[in-house]
Amino acid sequence: MAANTRENHIRLIRERLQKRRRELITAIQATRGELSALKEAERDPEYEEGAQTELADYTLSQLVENQRRELMLIDAAFQRMDAGEFGRCVDCGAEIPLDRLEAVPFAIRCEEDARLHEQERTGGAYASPTM
Ligand SMILES: [Zn+2]
Repeated sequence: MAANTRENHIRLIRERLQKRRRELITAIQATRGELSALKEAERDPEYEEGAQTELADYTLSQLVENQRRELMLIDAAFQRMDAGEFGRCVDCGAEIPLDRLEAVPFAIRCEEDARLHEQERTGGAYASPTM
């Protein structure tokens, strides 16, 4: 193992994200399976839990949506890694500190610019690449 350079840290983050990506794909497949099982159950005339099914359907759909969103963020992070832009603030161009990247691997801004950006629009800590 080489020294603890920034590149090595980013490589570790990449490995973590790759692992997370695989987990997400498995999770999305599982959630989709649950969704279609639910749809199957709805078609059953004996099945009378309509309202509950709708709620579960909604919850599962939201879950898939969140999982897909995280997957997109991971893919965007990989793109920035390939382009050599990962870990660089899109606003000021400064290197984003490693501890911030460890905590929020999808961060595309340094903490200061992220704060400024948050004030302009309400959103989570996970900035999407188009923002
Ligand atoms: Zn910045």
